[in-house]
Amino acid sequence: MDAKHDVLVIGAGCAGMRAAIEAHDAGADVAIVSKLHPTRSHSGAAEGGINAALGNAAEDSPETHAFDTVKGSDYLGDQDSIEIFTREAPGDIYQLEQWGCVFSRGEDGRLAQRPFGAAGSPRTVYAADITGHVLIQVLYEQLVKRDIQVYEEFFAWQLVVHEDRCQGVIAWDLLHGGLTAVGGKTVVLATGGVGRLYRATTNAYACTGDGMSMALRAGLPLKDIEFMQFHPTTMYPSGILITEGCRGEGGILRNSEGERFMERYAPTAKDLASRDVVSRSEQTEIDEGRGVNGSVLLDLTHLGAERILTRLPGSRELAMVYAGVDPIQEPIPVRPGAHYHMGGVETDTDGLTELTGLYAAGEVACVSVHGANRLGGNSLMETITFGRRAGRAAAEWALANTTVEVPESATRDAERELSELLGRSKGERPWKIRDELGQTMLENFGVFRREEQMQAQIGIIESLRERYPTVVVEDKGDVFNSDLTQAIELGYLLDVAACMLQAGIARKESRGAHSRPHDYPTRDDENFMKHSITRWVDGAPELSYKDVRFTKYLPEERKY
Ligand SMILES: Cc1cc2nc3c(=O)[nH]c(=O)nc-3n(C[C@H](O)[C@H](O)[C@H](O)COP(=O)(O)OP(=O)(O)OC[C@H]3O[C@@H](n4cnc5c(N)ncnc54)[C@H](O)[C@@H]3O)c2cc1C
Repeated sequence: MDAKHDVLVIGAGCAGMRAAIEAHDAGADVAIVSKLHPTRSHSGAAEGGINAALGNAAEDSPETHAFDTVKGSDYLGDQDSIEIFTREAPGDIYQLEQWGCVFSRGEDGRLAQRPFGAAGSPRTVYAADITGHVLIQVLYEQLVKRDIQVYEEFFAWQLVVHEDRCQGVIAWDLLHGGLTAVGGKTVVLATGGVGRLYRATTNAYACTGDGMSMALRAGLPLKDIEFMQFHPTTMYPSGILITEGCRGEGGILRNSEGERFMERYAPTAKDLASRDVVSRSEQTEIDEGRGVNGSVLLDLTHLGAERILTRLPGSRELAMVYAGVDPIQEPIPVRPGAHYHMGGVETDTDGLTELTGLYAAGEVACVSVHGANRLGGNSLMETITFGRRAGRAAAEWALANTTVEVPESATRDAERELSELLGRSKGERPWKIRDELGQTMLENFGVFRREEQMQAQIGIIESLRERYPTVVVEDKGDVFNSDLTQAIELGYLLDVAACMLQAGIARKESRGAHSRPHDYPTRDDENFMKHSITRWVDGAPELSYKDVRFTKYLPEERKY
């Protein structure tokens, strides 16, 4: 089955579905390729909410939202992207609401908004604590309503670049086996993030950086790839996220002495300081012996049963099932875990990458709204606003250009590569390399980054990369061969890890999620107010830099 479309979207999370809907409404023939059923996409795990300056709970404006985002990004976000984002977000929320998103409401019947970390106003719109779940159900309904074709459970493996244009993908059919070429006059990458690089992560098993690596292998740059956000409240020991909405509702972080320690680290914002600040504070408490079993405690007990049951029912259930505590009576053990990748495939404000015909949106992309640190609630909004913009731009280009061609050689080459991988009968099992990678990334490139540990990690990744070509896939079958896809995903993870380390060690400062307390404890605007740009050249990452785009928000000194 080889097929051709105007616009081909890879990924069916919030970004992919929003892009597909927009491209369809612009008149294009659209299809989606996704390795998961759309409603199983990782976006469905998002809990706390989505940010837009509606001003329903207190005075707010897109300018305030923009300023908070710029400041939260530690001045690394591109300010033109941020201004577009905050200006268009309210309209996108009302559109979602009209499509049927059952957002929670305030007493006056308007959409309710809760406070989130480092936000100057309560601007997080939410659907209890299952916001992502509600969004993807509604977006999926809109796909079905428009009869948009979904190649469901198709694993996109390689981009097809032909005549200096991206013209489709080669995908593996997970249900039946076999490689398929799917052509697109334009292709939108919306494959999500890469949290699975770390052993402790809030991310689903599918978050393996596929799109970032595919783009890298097609010669495209990754931007600000060293910035991985650690979320301060992931449950111990599972890594499952406890939403920032819990602190938005008044939850308090305490150490083993019962102290509300955030009062010392961030006297004004306290528990609602930005995520990087809270994660570092927690890690310091744990490192200095004031933790509880390698965690700190998130205390909701003072909120009372009614508030927890109405506002945070999902979080309560998660705590009861996975940590064995009922937050109405006891605090939840939490610690920092890898959560969100600020960096990704470099795009312009319409999602266009350096390669004609290739667009990217959502967590796979770097547009760059989040800079060195993302504010909670901003990434769901980014998937919607920039998913829409990428879908529109991809459709317009596709409709103005008439041909699409996937040369036979692209499928033949992929088949050769696949049979070599499946033909190997001796070698190492992929999971061994993956586990070593996840554990060492956590130890050597986590909340705090030290020169010698980063050096060591570069060596570890090099040796894992040397072992990778010997991996053996034991399952030779066609039906749901997760052994095969995990081996391919491991290759993607190794690519992204190598880029992260190279950009990380070269950034000799502390900014946002990149914290070097021992050798470069402060932000260095003179030398590092710039984006890292990483390409794959001759089998290794190659680093350069690009200026940050400013509009009107000038850097201010940061208090560490
Ligand atoms: C637990 C948790 C809670 C969060 N809560 C919030 C929140 O409250 N507010 C907020 O703003 N942000 C939140 N975030 C972040 C936010 O949810 C994500 O950044 C966002 O949902 C990513 O959406 P996406 O569409 O880019 O990717 P995803 O939703 O991850 O979708 C990726 C899609 O790509 C497909 N795909 C991937 N690789 C391939 C391949 N090789 N071939 C084919 N298909 C592929 C997958 O099948 C999937 O459909 C949270 C994140 C986590 C982990």
